Amino acid sequence: MAVSDLTIPSIPESIYKPGSNKKRQTIIVVVSILSILVMVILILAILYAWRKKKRPQVIVPDEPVQIIDEEYTMETGDDDTELSSFSLTKISKSTNDFANDKKLGEGGFGPVYKGVLDDGREIAVKRLSKTSRQGLGEFKNEVKFIAKLQHRNLVKLLGYCIQGDESMLIYEYMPNKSLDSFIFDTIKSSLLDWSDRYRIIHGTARGLLYLHQDSRFKIVHRDLKASNILLDVDMNPKISDFGLARMFREHENEANTNNVVGTLGYLAPEYAVDGTFSEKSDVFSFGVLVLEIVSGKKNRGFSHEKDSDNLLAHAWRLFEEGMVVQLLGAEMRDSCVVSEVLRSIHIGLLCVQHHAKDRPTMSSVVLMFDKEGALPRPKQPAFFAKGSVPQRNLVSINDITMTTLEPR
Ligand code: AMP
Repeated sequence: MAVSDLTIPSIPESIYKPGSNKKRQTIIVVVSILSILVMVILILAILYAWRKKKRPQVIVPDEPVQIIDEEYTMETGDDDTELSSFSLTKISKSTNDFANDKKLGEGGFGPVYKGVLDDGREIAVKRLSKTSRQGLGEFKNEVKFIAKLQHRNLVKLLGYCIQGDESMLIYEYMPNKSLDSFIFDTIKSSLLDWSDRYRIIHGTARGLLYLHQDSRFKIVHRDLKASNILLDVDMNPKISDFGLARMFREHENEANTNNVVGTLGYLAPEYAVDGTFSEKSDVFSFGVLVLEIVSGKKNRGFSHEKDSDNLLAHAWRLFEEGMVVQLLGAEMRDSCVVSEVLRSIHIGLLCVQHHAKDRPTMSSVVLMFDKEGALPRPKQPAFFAKGSVPQRNLVSINDITMTTLEPR
């Protein structure tokens, strides 16, 4: 074929125009930049979704967690702790639809019910009160702490139920309920003889030592009192209610708050007055508890016919006069071992000393109970005179824990 016969398609003129070439190049650059941007955004979105998926799930009652009808497990914090989930159907059935006669009591975040599961297991169900903001904070705190702790003298959390607007915690059931229902009750107090009481003191000391020192965390309970000691079928004590507990970092020894939380009668002076709390403020509460268990009298509201002493001052005065055994409640006179009674009161007085630095740590307290050596002489307790308990910023009515909300 002759070259002249070939039809070469004519190239549009515009391609050769210098101006339109520039326009085309601009379009290519813009499209390329846009594509790169879209790709970067896509990669970032994928990375974000992947990291979010990897992050451990934390129980937050108002962020719904997927609930299925069977029991299943979920992570509760930054470690591998796992808790069982119970369906609302199961819990309603076990408590007879939260019947009034199943109600065991009422605490910081709402009512507590007794339940029986299909397999016959008895449980205690703490139901978060829907109107309580304080309760919600305590609920989260309770899960955060108790789920990670395991000791024979701490109440055991079995699981949780979060469904719709219901948030509940499920515990092992303690058939003898709380210590206060025995020691401050004129009839039931005779059911706890000295050996029971000594075992309760000892067990509570061990539970507290575990919180302060032996667990993976350093935890200050901040609301140790007779109504927060639950008793199992053999009258073994279990510390409960971690709604106000605080975790300390490894080298942190004390902390400060403007909002003092706790219960009147059990608050250490440095906490009540300055808002400073530490393991030594728990030691103070433990000392009050020991004196209450031995005497069968409440520190708060104590009165003695001869003088205006409070319980701590009364114990101290008897100690100074060498008559401390008189502090022992009448119902234990026949069953007591005098040396154990004297040692318990002595240790109790060491724990309620005014200055935190003078009080023993819980490890020393446990050693003092376990060994028979001489004990140091206690100094005068805090709040020596009746009415010396400061009222500033204290938030407790009767024996009920009251808190003002503070960020956790
Ligand atoms: P709390 O909210 O822990 O202060 O509990 C309030 C009350 O409910 C306690 O004083 C007990 O009488 C009762 N209670 C709480 N937990 C249990 C449990 N695990 N077993 C039996 N009774 C409980």
